[in-house]
Amino acid sequence: MAELSTNVRYIKGIGETRAKALEKLGITTLRDLISYFPRSYEDRTLTRPIRDLTEGENVCVRAMIAADPTAHRIPGGRTIVRTRAVDETGALDIVFFNQEYRKNSLHRGEIYIFYGKVEGRRRHQLVNPLLEPEGRQQLTGRIMPIYSLTAGISQLMLTQAVRQGLDACRELLPDVLPDEVRREHRLCYINYAYENVHFPDSPEALTQARRRLAFEELFLLTCGLRLLRSRREDVSGPACRKVSMDPFYSALPFTLTDAQRRAVEDAIGDMTAGRPMNRLCQGDVGSGKTMVAAACIWFAAQNGWQSALMAPTEILARQHFETLSPLMARLGLTCALLVFIIGYIFVKGLPHVTCALLTGSTRARERRETLAGLAAGTVDLCIGTHALLTGDVQYGRLGLVVTDEQHRFGVNQRAALSQKAEAPHMLVLSATPIPRTLALVIYGDLDVSVIDQLPPGRQKVDTFALGESYRPRVNAFLRKQVQEGHQVFIVCPLVGDGDTLPDERKAVTAYAKKLQEETFPDLRVSVLHGKMKPKEKEKVMETFAAGESDILVSTTVVEVGVDVPNATCMVVENAERFGLSQLHQLRGRVGRGQAKSYCILLSEHPSEETRRRLKVMTRTNNGFEISQEDLHLRGPGDFFGQRQHGLPTLKIADLACDMQLLEEAQSAARELLSQDGDLSQPEHRPLLERVRELFHDTADSMN
Ligand code: ADP
Ligand code: MG
Repeated sequence: MAELSTNVRYIKGIGETRAKALEKLGITTLRDLISYFPRSYEDRTLTRPIRDLTEGENVCVRAMIAADPTAHRIPGGRTIVRTRAVDETGALDIVFFNQEYRKNSLHRGEIYIFYGKVEGRRRHQLVNPLLEPEGRQQLTGRIMPIYSLTAGISQLMLTQAVRQGLDACRELLPDVLPDEVRREHRLCYINYAYENVHFPDSPEALTQARRRLAFEELFLLTCGLRLLRSRREDVSGPACRKVSMDPFYSALPFTLTDAQRRAVEDAIGDMTAGRPMNRLCQGDVGSGKTMVAAACIWFAAQNGWQSALMAPTEILARQHFETLSPLMARLGLTCALLVFIIGYIFVKGLPHVTCALLTGSTRARERRETLAGLAAGTVDLCIGTHALLTGDVQYGRLGLVVTDEQHRFGVNQRAALSQKAEAPHMLVLSATPIPRTLALVIYGDLDVSVIDQLPPGRQKVDTFALGESYRPRVNAFLRKQVQEGHQVFIVCPLVGDGDTLPDERKAVTAYAKKLQEETFPDLRVSVLHGKMKPKEKEKVMETFAAGESDILVSTTVVEVGVDVPNATCMVVENAERFGLSQLHQLRGRVGRGQAKSYCILLSEHPSEETRRRLKVMTRTNNGFEISQEDLHLRGPGDFFGQRQHGLPTLKIADLACDMQLLEEAQSAARELLSQDGDLSQPEHRPLLERVRELFHDTADSMN
């Protein structure tokens, strides 16, 4: 008796070799096999009398062989077998190339179902059709699955294996969806779903099947995330009481936007609710998320808690530090910048504030002091990169963890940082405007505040997607911008030959050198790339920010953070190599000051698809719209990264299209869990088990 976990070799016709090949497709068990969903389908249901055939159509024809097949050799060493088939309405040529055996396997007077594409305008023929004797149809007259294949596995073989797999599993599939959920959302039974997703009885049956399976997948995902969350709700968070935020607001050089205010209020509501906050603050580039974090940090400090702020790059950490430490100093907080890359220490003083910058080599003493300050609780805020996660960084009274640009950190890293304290409040800032569908999934265990409003005075960045022929004009334009006192970013992607990673330093340096010597000998061009020492990078950024350089050539290190309001122009070379969301991030580097800003996307030989993609950028400045477009064009892979998120992958639900279904699944999960919060009721046993299975390699274990 087979089980879902039985190895696929159980199936007749699958031996060692094929099992190995199937493994490459991620198929090892029977469950994997039947969950290997078709990539597409071929509709072989259309059956026509011969008289009604039209050229180019894929059809089934029921016809009788009317002549003994003949075989001939043709030039090129090939054989051709010909015969003729008839029905009540007409006759048709049947032709096979290199299938000599057909000569003896087709018999005059027998009726077959042929399937193929009709060729020939006047005299119709079917070339190399599929055929089956009437009455024993498996491959014709129905909608057939088409699977993605790998070497050693043919379409027919896999189709047959799945057929057998389905037969073997029929009695075994537990319906994890509770009956009432299934009924309420008009979902079909599990066996029907599996059967029809592979071998649909009709297009409607396929839709039903797919819907059921996608729903189930999203439902399981939501249940899993909700269980993770509810476990968190059992613990209490760092205790906070309400304090007036007025001193904070009045220390700011501007008034917060309504959206910022709302996000701050959401967060404070969480922190005073007794359990640990787990909130995502999502807002487009420049929407002012840093100030939301600052408000929370200040609030935590008022309640006697330390905060840690983790940024994905050193430059960004530094910038946060430079924004926050004067503000906090005005508000009487002590602040430490902790960025250590190779264990090098550099100490920098600001009035009234103890600031430490921890990097690589020297001054172990200062680093020790900062660590001591954190452990003793005398440092209120610690800003840094993922270095904040290392073992020797201990906090005396860590109450709030803020991670910026969260999509670059995985769920796992987020979890690692939160381990630095019992159950700290967590605030996640996401600069990439992830489409709502994805946010719900990736951040399904988080509450979300959306900052859907930019600070006043922001203007649209005019964007142009241009080909190589425009380069002289672009250069003239850049020169004009600089002459008007503005600055320019030029971003080059790493262009390699696919296998070897290009030498980033060489490529960018050579580009900048050429630009300086040949194009802009009279302007000041500087270079920034990821291989530079942190100190060098910082120097280049400072020089540029101070206006002592006109053009900054860089790799994507400028993507996040940096704030240079005087920069009005962002040029992206080989723009086709970037995702739209990334381009949007890059574009966000300009348009931060008063002056009109521009973004120029260059690509050498833009394909139709590239043109279409880049056009989106010229059309809108709305990050959410852009990421939605990205999702449609490139699929969710880009957002998810290499499973870095630590969540189960989706096999059938399509986040670009299944928004409505996701919402349905989420509301169903919410309702079910409101009745049985830990799925402990016996009838929910299969569901709980399946959720556990799916989440077994997630950072937090499900037990
Ligand atoms: P992001 O959401 O991309 O992290 P930042 O927090 O870096 O955005 O803010 C972008 C810029 O807008 C900063 O220079 C910041 O000082 C400024 N800013 C933030 N909030 C406001 C506001 N309410 N009014 C005016 N300027 C603001
Ligand atoms: Mg930011």
